Amino acid sequence: MKKSQDGELLSFVIPIGGLKLGTYSYNYSINQLFFSSFENSIIQNGNVEVALELEKRASLIELIFSIEGKVEVECDRCLEWMEVSISSEEVILLKFGEEESDEADIIYLLPDTQAFSVANLIYEFIHLAVPISNSHEDIGQDCEIDIKQFLVEDKIEEEESENTSVWDSLKNIKIEPN
Ligand SMILES: [Zn+2]
Repeated sequence: MKKSQDGELLSFVIPIGGLKLGTYSYNYSINQLFFSSFENSIIQNGNVEVALELEKRASLIELIFSIEGKVEVECDRCLEWMEVSISSEEVILLKFGEEESDEADIIYLLPDTQAFSVANLIYEFIHLAVPISNSHEDIGQDCEIDIKQFLVEDKIEEEESENTSVWDSLKNIKIEPN
């Protein structure tokens, strides 16, 4: 992926200033190279297709991202890489002006902005599309965790919850005033 001198991914830069009013389509194939250009990316590999519909109107630009594909994330149990499917749609409005916005889906740009990179948005949206928890379906098969270890952990958790219940019952003891 070609980068500009300040490290921007050039193929994601849209020359918004030069576009006439109307709709435009862009397609991006996201892979390992894309993720590797972001430091500390939780996702390091994947194959994601991003279709972007851009509509330039007189007062604003609407961006509709359709994201579809697979990414590799760590399994919560065994910490091995596993593939998860993602699918999402996100809408962002680009407005021109000096205003500030608290709204997450509006980005204000200076009126004379000529180019806008969608790389950071695509990066964020892909991460947002990943489920919060991910683990292999079959422990001991796909999931490369040591089953004995897993059972021991379960037992410890049980003992802990027993301890908690002792404290809970103590809390319920009412001390009668003399
Ligand atoms: Zn696993």
